[in-house]
Amino acid sequence: MKPSHIEHIGIAVASLEKAISFYEGVLGLKCYKIEEVADQKVRTAFLLVGETKIELLESTDPEGPIGKFIEKRGEGIHHIAFAVEKIEAHLAHAESEGVKLIDSVPRKGAEGLDIAFLHPKSASGVLIEFCEDKK
Ligand code: ZN
Repeated sequence: MKPSHIEHIGIAVASLEKAISFYEGVLGLKCYKIEEVADQKVRTAFLLVGETKIELLESTDPEGPIGKFIEKRGEGIHHIAFAVEKIEAHLAHAESEGVKLIDSVPRKGAEGLDIAFLHPKSASGVLIEFCEDKK
């Protein structure tokens, strides 16, 4: 039981438009979707590089998780998401290893994926996301 690949890297940005123009103009990637996740108080933009996505995250509310992150640490890498099968089993395994979970039960994230976060305190300061495509 291990992740198959890095599903995406989440990057907190002040301006989605500015960040998209960097990834398109400088790296030559293509933004294929912009989606608002009301639950998370973010607007997200997706670009694909190989099997991995870059997920740009712009806060829609200063009190939301990305708004708070940017206020505290500025723009930058926010989380790394691993693609898994059987997300519940991965969460149970992490918990049995003494990892602090942010989500003990998966919830719906962008692109209709089931997602769950592990606490960065348990992972060398990195916010780790599991995601499973159950489609
Ligand atoms: Zn994510």
